Amino acid sequence: MYDLLAALSFLPLKPAPWASGDQRGGLAKRKGLSSTAMHLLDALAALAVSEPDDVYTTALTLPPQTLALYVSAQAPVPATATKHLQNIWSFLQSAPSESDVLLTGHRYGFVASQMRYSWKALRGRLQVDGAIVIATLTTALAQLPNHGMPTTPSPQGQDQSRRDQLGETMREPLTRLLQSVQNLRTGVLSSGVLEDSVLLRAFSEIGQLHKLVFGPDATERLLSDLEFLAGAPLSKLLARIVWLAEPCARLWSLMSSSKLGAIVSHPFNVIVIPPLTRQVVVSLDKHRLFSAAAGTTTTPELCPGLADLLETYVFHRVEIVLTGYQGDPTSTDSGALNVPLHPELALLAHLDSLLYDPYPYIGMSEPACLLCHEYIATYSEVSWRRESHVRGSDCHLPFPWVAPSLHGNHDARIMRDFVDLVSAMFASACFEIYTHLGTSG
Ligand SMILES: [Zn+2]
Repeated sequence: MYDLLAALSFLPLKPAPWASGDQRGGLAKRKGLSSTAMHLLDALAALAVSEPDDVYTTALTLPPQTLALYVSAQAPVPATATKHLQNIWSFLQSAPSESDVLLTGHRYGFVASQMRYSWKALRGRLQVDGAIVIATLTTALAQLPNHGMPTTPSPQGQDQSRRDQLGETMREPLTRLLQSVQNLRTGVLSSGVLEDSVLLRAFSEIGQLHKLVFGPDATERLLSDLEFLAGAPLSKLLARIVWLAEPCARLWSLMSSSKLGAIVSHPFNVIVIPPLTRQVVVSLDKHRLFSAAAGTTTTPELCPGLADLLETYVFHRVEIVLTGYQGDPTSTDSGALNVPLHPELALLAHLDSLLYDPYPYIGMSEPACLLCHEYIATYSEVSWRRESHVRGSDCHLPFPWVAPSLHGNHDARIMRDFVDLVSAMFASACFEIYTHLGTSG
């Protein structure tokens, strides 16, 4: 199966509409999940991030069980993160309800303490991701066609005419966006002593930037036009920079809600799930992959061309990657790879082993990869025991990736359905690239 995942990660896959985007509204409607609980879990995961590359996931068990927050991350969860989560819980518990002035002061205190905790991650992300965003936006701006200048015909045809049209409308939003990222980056990187005023000013700049890119007035269109002009996926980088805006605003508004009060009134326990690694053997089985690729090909004459295409675009690259991994110190003598489980799957495996039902939602500091999303969806469909859901996927395909080993006899059934699903994705991606190359000559 793992050669299939490696092969898939080399193919251009269209974002899966059922997995991409924010699914929390749909989960509330279809599955009756509580928006408050979902947003709380996602917020707690995002707010636990203290290093630039942290990914956190969270889950809850609610009364009548003992209320507990389960936390897993890529690296072992440090004691500072546990303490910080306890601190947030206390903030939520002690939100004053009798006076707006007191509540506002309380909320500012919460944001300042959060910013102090996340400062290192924010600096790190602004240093790296911020620099890439600024460079990309600067280039995109410089390449916008000048207003009123005759445009030269270009071999790219359609792309050039879309570029010309966008030149008129995109200069202003691009400039504003660039300025906002530069302000935030300069402010954060140049600040010395972290007074509350510095932290709150940075938070307000994050809020403005978030509004500009992801706010209700910023349409999907702005981001897709921007990524077209920049020729690079900027939304993920921007999301990494402004990751605090949404969860802070969400908890801020939930602080006065009775639904949250019902959850946070209980004593709080944090249960840390250690990272898990599994050993997998990856060997390239060309015959099986070819059968998987041809699975949905209805016209047999495609097959010879498909074999050539797989050889050139997929098998060759998979071989290079696998050879590279065999030289990797983490792989064993027998060529098996030690692959860390993504934290949401380590968490799922732990929740699966509980004797009582956890809340059927896993909070994440960022959207899941497509494989984790699909694995968890398969788990919910196939497992007779319980469900779990996540807020959505950014549809990236990581390699290497590994599935968890679950308790009970549903492990094999889940894997069978998951492999079928991945095979179907592989077949459709192969078909897509085959027809694209076929028509473009
Ligand atoms: Zn994943």
